[in-house]
Formats: sequence, C-alpha cells, structure tokens
Amino acid sequence: MKSYVFPGDIDPELMAIGAKPFLYMRTDAFSEINKESEKILLDLIHCPGGRTIIYTGSGTGAMSAVVENYVSTKSKAIVIDGGSFGHRWFSLCEYYGVPVIDFKVPFAKDIDYGLLEETIAAEKPEVLLCQHHETSTGQLFSLDKLSAICRRNKVSLVVDVISTFLAEPLSMEKYDIDICVTSTQKGLNIPPGLSVLFFSSKLDGYKFNHRGYYWDFDYNFSNFKRGQTPFSPATILFLQLNARLRQLREEGGEAKNIADVRHRAEFFRELCRKYGWDIPAEVPSFAITGFQTKDTAERKIFKGLMEKYDTYIMPGSLPGFYRVSHMGLQSDEDLRLLAERIHEFETA
Ligand SMILES: *Cc1c(COP(=O)(O)O)cnc(C)c1O
Repeated sequence: MKSYVFPGDIDPELMAIGAKPFLYMRTDAFSEINKESEKILLDLIHCPGGRTIIYTGSGTGAMSAVVENYVSTKSKAIVIDGGSFGHRWFSLCEYYGVPVIDFKVPFAKDIDYGLLEETIAAEKPEVLLCQHHETSTGQLFSLDKLSAICRRNKVSLVVDVISTFLAEPLSMEKYDIDICVTSTQKGLNIPPGLSVLFFSSKLDGYKFNHRGYYWDFDYNFSNFKRGQTPFSPATILFLQLNARLRQLREEGGEAKNIADVRHRAEFFRELCRKYGWDIPAEVPSFAITGFQTKDTAERKIFKGLMEKYDTYIMPGSLPGFYRVSHMGLQSDEDLRLLAERIHEFETA
C-alpha cells in the first residue's frame, strides 16, 4: 500500500511499537515519557516556558476544548473561514453560544488582510481563530500579517496548526500566539488518535471556563503537570509520539523535517506542471499539493489508484480536485510514479 493521505506512510520502526506489549500508564515511567514529550514539543514549536495538554482524541476534540475552556471566556470571536476547517471554528463557536464573526475567504484564496483589520477595528472581537494552512484547499495564511493585526488590535491569537506543525516554519514566540492546536496524524506522521494543545506562558494563571468535562483545561493541566492524564490515555500512541519526538530531536529539531516536506512538495509540483494540473492555492503550503485534474465527478483517478495500485490520495470538494499529502515517507521515485498513474487514469 502507498498512502498520500494523512498520516501517509509511517516509519516501520514506529509502527512496530504498536505490535508490542506496553507499560501500565499509572507509573512513574509513563509520567517521565510524557514529561519528555512535552519538553520536545515545546522546543519544536518555539514556545519557551509554555505548557501542553496531550489529549486522547483527534484534532477537532482539541479545537472543541479551546472553545469550551478559552474562547467562551471572551465577549466575541472572529473566525477566518477559508474552507471546511475554518468553518469548523465557526460551528464550534455557534455550538457553544459564543458571539462570532464569520470572516469568509474564497476557495484557495489568501485573506484580504486590510479588510480583516477594518472588520476587527469595527467589531472589536477579543480572540481570532484561524488555520495556519486551510488543508481543504491547500492555502497557507500569513502568520506574519495575522500576528501584526492581532498585536495592533489587542486580539488574542489562536492558531490551528494541525497541518503545518513540522511542515512549515512556525514559532509561537515570534508570532505571539496564545494557543496552538495540532494532532498526531499530520506532520508528526504517526497514527491518528492524539491531539496536542500548546499554551503560551502568557496564559499562566488565566481563569479558564469549565464547560466540557473530558476536555477541561484545569483538570488536564493538574494531571499533566505530573505526566499523567485524567482518563485512560491511548498508551501506545503516547509511546509512538515519544519515539517520534526523540527521532526529531536526534535529527536536530524541526528544520530537517520541514526541508524534507518542502522538497517533496516542490518535486511533485514540477510533475503537476508537466501534466498540466493547475494548483489553485494563491499561496500553497508545502504540507499538501491541491491540484486540478480533468477527472470527472465519478472520481476515476481516486478509484483507479485504489483498485489497481493500492494507493490512496485525497479527493477534494470539487470534481477533479485532488490533494496529495507530503507528510509521510515518500521518495522522488514514488512521486514520479504517482503522477504517472494519476495521468494514466485521467486520460483513460
Ligand atoms: C486534519 C485537520 C483538522 C481535523 O483534525 P481531526 O484530527 O480529523 O479531528 C483540523 N484542522 C486542520 C487544519 C486539519 O488539517
């Protein structure tokens, strides 16, 4: 099998952890593993003195936790709604009754930053919720610009970096971000099931709300301080996470991983040009390539790859629009073959 979805092909050594017996979670040994994971995670995202919560639950669970515990303490939020993930922030605010402005961004377009700042000046939200990369379209947003707007208008910045952590350069300190969200099945490239929240030290002592029992920040913080979780953790995934983080640390941090992702993206985009597939994103992220083929609504490329070659790519929201992730293990030769096969079904 070849996988160009999330998490893509995983290092077999990390996969093998899932086939072995694993330790009991209520032990000092497990606590030490998690404390080490927290330290490496904070280093990788440049959040000195910060805190993390690692939840058993997918990325959306952690996004929900942010709205329940933090956004609900604010009088008004503004959401960058550039696709299905941006819209999820909006839905969560509505679900929890937080007044929210839905700042819509057209498909695969960048934000109109001038208009955003005008809207913020007029509406005075206290928190901005966005994606670093709207994974449904491939569009990357500028944290430089978002961060400057938030600073000037004294708005708290919360960023879903689920698909850019370890795929794009990222620093919570530099961009003055209060909370970041990620999950294990994207840049970390291990199986889905855990999500991570990163908290700036600016939020030390913040009075969070208590509106979600399982996701309660204070309850999770008080347990995680000693490397524990309040409820049964997905122990194997915590071990895979730790092994993956150690690997990254041995490689000298996030830079090599980001460079690898970038190389794959650039290599695949050359192939897109060769076969005449347009990349609609105005500023494409290296995390994925979203590209327009001439496939029909019947998705013959998606089905053909799956049935003939046991290969997965991600169908998009429009006919013929596909996404290939660059976060898993993939060689130049893999990508060359993939493009050739996509072309085979496109022209079949
Ligand atoms: C994948 C993704 C999510 C959703 O995460 P789940 O782990 O599927 O809940 C949210 N936001 C972005 C930007 C994503 O890429």
